[in-house]
Amino acid sequence: MSKEIPYKIYLTEEEMPKAWYNMRADMKNKPAPLLNPGTLKPMTAEELSGVFCEELVKQELDDKTAYFEIPEEIRNFYKMYRPSPLVRAYCLEKKLGTPAKIYYKFEGNNTSGSHKLNSAIAQAYYAKKQGLKGVTTETGAGQWGTALSMACSYFELDCKVYMVKVSYEQKPFRREVMRTYGASVTPSPSETTNVGRKILAAHPGTTGSLGCAISEAVEVATSTPGYRYVLGSVLNQVLLHQSVIGLETKAALDKYGIKPDVIIGCAGGGSNLGGLIAPFMGEKLRGEADYQIIAIEPASCPSFTRGKYAYDFCDTGMVCPLSKMYTLGSDFIPAPNHAGGLRYHGMSTTLSQLYDDGLMEARSVKQTEVFEAAETFARVEGILPAPESSHAIKAAIDEALKCKETGEEKTIVFGLTGTGYFDLVAYEKFHDGIMEDYIPTDAELAESLAKLPKVE
Ligand SMILES: *Cc1c(COP(=O)(O)O)cnc(C)c1O
Repeated sequence: MSKEIPYKIYLTEEEMPKAWYNMRADMKNKPAPLLNPGTLKPMTAEELSGVFCEELVKQELDDKTAYFEIPEEIRNFYKMYRPSPLVRAYCLEKKLGTPAKIYYKFEGNNTSGSHKLNSAIAQAYYAKKQGLKGVTTETGAGQWGTALSMACSYFELDCKVYMVKVSYEQKPFRREVMRTYGASVTPSPSETTNVGRKILAAHPGTTGSLGCAISEAVEVATSTPGYRYVLGSVLNQVLLHQSVIGLETKAALDKYGIKPDVIIGCAGGGSNLGGLIAPFMGEKLRGEADYQIIAIEPASCPSFTRGKYAYDFCDTGMVCPLSKMYTLGSDFIPAPNHAGGLRYHGMSTTLSQLYDDGLMEARSVKQTEVFEAAETFARVEGILPAPESSHAIKAAIDEALKCKETGEEKTIVFGLTGTGYFDLVAYEKFHDGIMEDYIPTDAELAESLAKLPKVE
């Protein structure tokens, strides 16, 4: 096993995955179904197809089929920016003086600067195939909106983006990238929808949240002929598309006979983590191998570590189906001084079930320590990481330092989901020493959790 490991392990086009992997097929305890908020019955394909594209509804509801072939058009688009490199972090290992071997899968090598393009292109493809005119969506930090704008311009679809107001104001450059790809961008909450007007009346001056923006985008999609709504995280279909990350990672490691011990990813809605761990979790579920899998979330928005596993609304306006997940309550909004992304109140139902079954762990980290880790990483590995990704960096560094104490030569793999060029206001706050950590109190969490819908 002395084959020299290169700094970057690439796959050839031929070695790239030809099918996505659906973890749910191998789960004994399936994730709970989405419920109709009116009847509390599982959402049917027919009900969902008013909101989502037909093919995506099929993927959403299918917890039996393990592999979905990736259509050739999507595989060809992937070839423009994939395979993404799996990098051996030799420089970081040296800096830390750790015997651990650290690898990261870098998804920031495309204009959207994140993994989100992997699902955006799939969702735009199915919308186009269905003959739709366009799609609507929400975006928080802007990566998803950018990815979707790119995907829509490729397939000549109209793209309407509702952008969380605080990001719209803080990240004007992100907005211009989206407009370059032809998308229209509206700050949310806005006066352009019923639900936006209602939220503004109830919370004047609100800086918005992903939950609000989702409600607005869904309203526009369902009230405009030829439009459907698409979502960049949380949903099963998104985890399915993102499995390309894990499948590539596994194929690259297998080339060198490397078996990871620890797999780490940041978790907002759970899509990159769900994608990265997919084939590894599959082996774990089938009893073929074991891995330590860790989700990392911000201490200011701690869905896994302090939330409740319960049915909740996916959005603030309560127009979306109910989803059983680890949640902080649908009107939980992280403190405005939280700059590090990963602001969603809930979590993927699939990851929630896996976490509840003890198949993965979760930890929360504070944003100042996240930016410290980001800076350490940038200085030795060169890449300017997104704050979201830096949650995973922080945890990977912690694990590597533990190995330094114990002398263990663990192999650690983490997901480096994107770059941080649009997050420089947050980096500036950190460098100026004015970044604060905000950790919600139990009383604050109890307040939003008290409003969970009563199911059963
Ligand atoms: C959106 C995003 C995330 C978090 O979303 P998940 O669905 O939890 O993966 C993490 N990193 C980057 C760079 C993102 O753009």
